[in-house]
Amino acid sequence: MSATGTLLDDQPDDGASSDADGLLVGLNAEQHHAVTVDALPLAIRAGAGSGKTRVLTRRIAWRSLTGRHDPRRVLALTFTRKAAGQLRSRLRLLGLRDQVAAGTFHSVAYAQLRTFWSERGQREPDLLDRKFSFVTPLLPRDRRSTDVLDVVTEIEWAKARRIPPEAYAGRAEELGRNPPMSPPTIARIYRDYEDRKAEKRMVDFDDLLDQCARALRGDRAFGDAQRWRFRHLYVDEFQDVNPLQFALLAAWLSDSDDLCVVGDPDQAIYGWNGADADHLNRFDTHFPGATLVDLRQNYRSTPQVLRTAAAALRGSTPMEANRLSGPAPTVTVHADDRAEAAAVARKVRDTRGTDGAWSRQAVLVRTNAQADVIVGALRDAGIPVRTRSGSGVLDRPDVKGALGSLSRSSRPLTDHLGDLRSDADDDLSDDETAPRDAERAAAFAQLRTLADEYLSIEPSGTASGFVGWVRGQARAAADDSADAVEVATFHAAKGLEWEAVHVAGLEQGLVPIAHAREPAALAEERRLLYVALSRAEVGLHLSWAQQRTFGERTSKRRPSFWLDDIEHAIRNLDKPFAQAEQARRASMARERVQKPAGLPDHPVVEELRTWRQDQARAADVELYDVFPNATIDSLLRVWPGTKKDLLDVHGIGPYKADRFGTDLLAILAGHDRPEMPAPPAKAPRSRAPAAVHGDLDPDLVEALRAWRLEQADGKPAFTVFANATMHELAATRPTTTDELLAVSGIGPAKAERFGAELLAFLAEQP
Ligand code: ATP
Ligand code: MG
Repeated sequence: MSATGTLLDDQPDDGASSDADGLLVGLNAEQHHAVTVDALPLAIRAGAGSGKTRVLTRRIAWRSLTGRHDPRRVLALTFTRKAAGQLRSRLRLLGLRDQVAAGTFHSVAYAQLRTFWSERGQREPDLLDRKFSFVTPLLPRDRRSTDVLDVVTEIEWAKARRIPPEAYAGRAEELGRNPPMSPPTIARIYRDYEDRKAEKRMVDFDDLLDQCARALRGDRAFGDAQRWRFRHLYVDEFQDVNPLQFALLAAWLSDSDDLCVVGDPDQAIYGWNGADADHLNRFDTHFPGATLVDLRQNYRSTPQVLRTAAAALRGSTPMEANRLSGPAPTVTVHADDRAEAAAVARKVRDTRGTDGAWSRQAVLVRTNAQADVIVGALRDAGIPVRTRSGSGVLDRPDVKGALGSLSRSSRPLTDHLGDLRSDADDDLSDDETAPRDAERAAAFAQLRTLADEYLSIEPSGTASGFVGWVRGQARAAADDSADAVEVATFHAAKGLEWEAVHVAGLEQGLVPIAHAREPAALAEERRLLYVALSRAEVGLHLSWAQQRTFGERTSKRRPSFWLDDIEHAIRNLDKPFAQAEQARRASMARERVQKPAGLPDHPVVEELRTWRQDQARAADVELYDVFPNATIDSLLRVWPGTKKDLLDVHGIGPYKADRFGTDLLAILAGHDRPEMPAPPAKAPRSRAPAAVHGDLDPDLVEALRAWRLEQADGKPAFTVFANATMHELAATRPTTTDELLAVSGIGPAKAERFGAELLAFLAEQP
C-alpha cells in the first residue's frame, strides 16, 4: 500500500534494508533494467503510476551504493520545491544521508549565479519581483488594468521558448497564441520590458536560467567547476521542460552523457506556458545514441481506474494493472455547486478508511476559483482540509492593507490589478532601493495568480468579490494539519497519488477551460484531465453541477463534453477493453449530425452577420471563433430576451453570453422574429464509399472549395482548412464527428466550430 498524497513511496520492500541489493527487491524486470542499466543518456518514458519516480530515486541510490557514482556529485531536478524536498527525504530513507542535491531549475541556477557573482566581486542584480507594476506602465493607457496579466503571460511564454522580442510576433502567430493585443504591440512591450530591466540592473526569474547557462558556457573556469560539482544529472517530469530549461541543462552537461530523465508524454500539461514535450518525445534526436526504456505495468490504480482514466485520452489503451479489481468509478450531477460540494464532503466522510486517515483522499478541481465552496463544505462537515494555494497570504500586513482597500470597492477587479503589488508606490525609480523580500514577492505573486484565475472564470468580478473569495482560499490553506483531505488543482496534483480521488466541476468552461480553443490547447486540457483521473488508486468519484456561482454571478452549466467518453468507459467496465472500444465507435457512428437549416433571408440575419464580422476583425479571430452559422440558427429559434435565456442557445455558454450578450440582445430587440424553417430530421446517410486518394471526385472537390470560401468570409481560405485536408475530406467523405476528427488537419477545435455544418454539407453532396 502506498503512502498517500506523496510523490514517492520508496522504502525498500524488504523493510529496513538499505544495501544495494535491497533496492532492487520488488521491482519488475523493466524497472530493474531501468535502475541498473549503465547506458547513458537514458530516458524512461512511461505512463502514470508505472513507477518512474520510484525508479529515478532507486537508480540514484543504487548507483551511489554500488560505487557507480558519488552521491555528492548528483543533481536531481524536479518541477517544484516540494517535489525536491520529497526526493531528498526518500533518498534519506534509502540510505543516502543529505548528500544528493535536489532542487528546481530556478533554485539551482540562482545558487550557482550567486557563486558566480560573488567570486567575481560583481554586484548582484536585483531580482524583479514586481513584474506586474513594472509592466503595467508599458501598456497603452486604456489597456493597463485589463490586459496586464495576459501580457505578462505572453512575455513569460516567449522567454520560456527563448523567443526574443524581435521574433515574438512571427512565432506567436505560427504557434497559435491568442494574445490580448496585436502581436507587434506585445513585441514592443516585451522589448521595452527587457530594456528597462537592463537599465535598472534587474533580472527576472527567467533571466536567472538564461544567465546561468551563459555563465556556464562563457566562463570556462566557472563552467568546469560547476560541471565537476554536479556531474550526474537526473530530471523528473521531463515532458514539462521548456526550451529555456533545456538550454540550461545542455550547459550543465556540456559534452557529458551523464543524464537520466523520466517522463510521460501523456501528462504534458505546461505547453501553454512554454514547455515542449518534444524534448522527451524525441529524446534520441536531442541526444543521439540515447537509451530509451519503457515501463508497462501500473502499480498505482485498479483496472477500473485505469480504464476510466484512459478514456480521458480518447482511444488510448489502458495500462496493465498490477492491483486487484476495485469498485467502478462514479459520476454524479448536482443542482448547483453548493450541492455538489456538500455531496463531495459526504462522500469523503463515507469513504474514510478503517484507519481513519483523511490524508488518503483528495478533491481535485481545474481552477483555484472552485476550491472555496468545496473547502467550505468539508469544513462544515468537520473534515480537516489542506490546500496548496494562498497559504499564509492573509497574515501579511502588506497584503492585508491591499485587500482592505479592495474590499471597499465594488468596481471590477480589472480596474484594480495595479493594486495587487507589493507596495502602493507607482514610481518605478523606487524599485532599485526597495529591499528585496522574497516572501513578500511570493505572497503577491500568489495573489496575482489567484486574481488571474478568478478573472478567467468571472471576467467582470468585482474587487470586493475577489477579496471574499481570496480570504476563503487563505483560510483554507492556513490549516496545515498533517492528516487532512487535500484540495488541489489538477496542475498541483501532478506526480501525487491518493487512495480516493474526487474530481469536481467537470463542466464546459472548466474542463476544458474556457480559453482553450485551439486544438493544441484542447489536447493539453484532455491530458490535464487524464493527470487528474490517474491520481486515484482505488476510489474515483466525478461530479458536475448544473449551476455554479462565482462571486456575484450565477450561471447555468453543461457537462464537460469529455464526460461522454468517460461514462461510456465506466458502463462497459465488465467488457474486455477491445469490445468496449468497438461499442464506443459504433455508437459514435450512429450519431447522425443534424443539418442546421439554411439561415432565412431576413434583416436580423444580415445584422447578425455584419456584427459577427466586426467582432472577428476587432479581435483578429476567425468568424467561427465568434460563432458558427449553427449558433445563429439556434439564436433565431430560441429568440432570447434576457442574458439568462441566451444560455439556452446552442453554442453559447457563460463565457460568450457574458462577452457578447448585451450586443446580441440589442440586435434581436431591434427586429421582428423571423419565420424559421423546420429543422430537417436526419442528415441523409452517406452513400459514396471512401474513395482512394488520387481518385477524387472533382465535383466534390470544387463544392468543398466553394464551401470553404464561404466559411472563410474574406479571410485566406487555408484558415478554414488546407488543400491537403480538403482532398482528404473528398476522399474519405466522413459522416460522423469521429471520422471527421480522423482527417488530418481537423482537430477538436475545428470540428467544434464547423464540424456539424461540414458534415451536413458533405451528406448533401451527390
Ligand atoms: P506519475 O507519472 O503519476 O508521476 P510514476 O510513474 O512516477 O507516476 P510512481 O509514483 O513512481 O509512478 O509509482 C506509482 C506507485 O506505484 C507508487 O505508490 C509506487 O510506490 C508504486 N510502485 C511502483 N513500482 C512498484 C513496484 N515494483 N512494487 C510496488 N509498488 C510499486
Ligand atoms: Mg512521478
